[in-house]
Amino acid sequence: MPPIHPDTLRGQRALVTGANSGIGAAVARALAQAGARVAINYVVNPEAAEQLVREIRAEGGEAMALEADVSDEGQVQRMFQNMIDAWSGIDILVANAGLQRDAPFHEMTLAQWNKVLEVNLTGQFLCAREAVRAFLRQGINPKLSCAAGKIICMSSVHDIVPWAGHVNYATSKGGVLMFLKSLAQEVAEHRIRVNGISPGAIRTPINRSAWETAEAEADLLTLIPYGRIGEPMDIGRAAVWLASDASDYVTGTTLYVDGGMTLYPGFREGG
Ligand code: NAD
Repeated sequence: MPPIHPDTLRGQRALVTGANSGIGAAVARALAQAGARVAINYVVNPEAAEQLVREIRAEGGEAMALEADVSDEGQVQRMFQNMIDAWSGIDILVANAGLQRDAPFHEMTLAQWNKVLEVNLTGQFLCAREAVRAFLRQGINPKLSCAAGKIICMSSVHDIVPWAGHVNYATSKGGVLMFLKSLAQEVAEHRIRVNGISPGAIRTPINRSAWETAEAEADLLTLIPYGRIGEPMDIGRAAVWLASDASDYVTGTTLYVDGGMTLYPGFREGG
């Protein structure tokens, strides 16, 4: 893989939610490699967040860890205030935090349903709203970017691929798809860009059972025409592009970074 150019996001300030694990950590690393200062949000496991901050600093980048539950309005507002107090603003939000609470539909509890919707969808709303408020206050700084701000919503191929046993999760991601399109339409006139990334199967803790044995991995690969499981940095690189002026005319779009998982691989033969 070619290196990420360190001037791509030079001087910009990014917040990545759920950044102490998996995809969020890779996105934070990639943004830092692209020259951005990165705030690492976490809700559990502060050690992992601090470790990532140290790694980014060791590579010459700038980072800080910020605690907040993205589904809690007060905590989200305090997190944004802390970031803005420290770095005088924000240019990029990657709303990545997400979780699963899987169950057969007839056994799914209201608590499982609510938890997934609160984190995966309401969390996007709360974080994006604070980001848009900040972008509107700041306006465009042409030295940093053509846009007043960029929001990247971490969705999933399950925003369009139905998923039995995960009705709460697929519903939340389907919601993210229309959330980001409607928001993009609303704020485009302020030169705020809102896009999504829909990862396919990426090797992270959230889906460990799908890749940790050879048998599970072989099963999973039947769903991926490109023939490999995604790595978190596949998403990190996509995030750098969507955050950068290289994608300045792109808004309201969801980028499927999935090795072809959404290409109906079952139709390769027959159909
Ligand atoms: P992960 O479990 O490694 O990371 C999820 C992160 O979100 C963790 O840091 C977790 O602590 C954080 N989080 C959970 N609830 C939170 C809350 N209330 N407030 C703040 N942070 C919270 O999983 P991942 O695979 O890295 O997932 C990241 C995102 O990518 C999620 O939105 C997930 O739905 C999405 N995604 C992942 C895959 C995949 O294959 N791994 C595929 C499609 C979509």
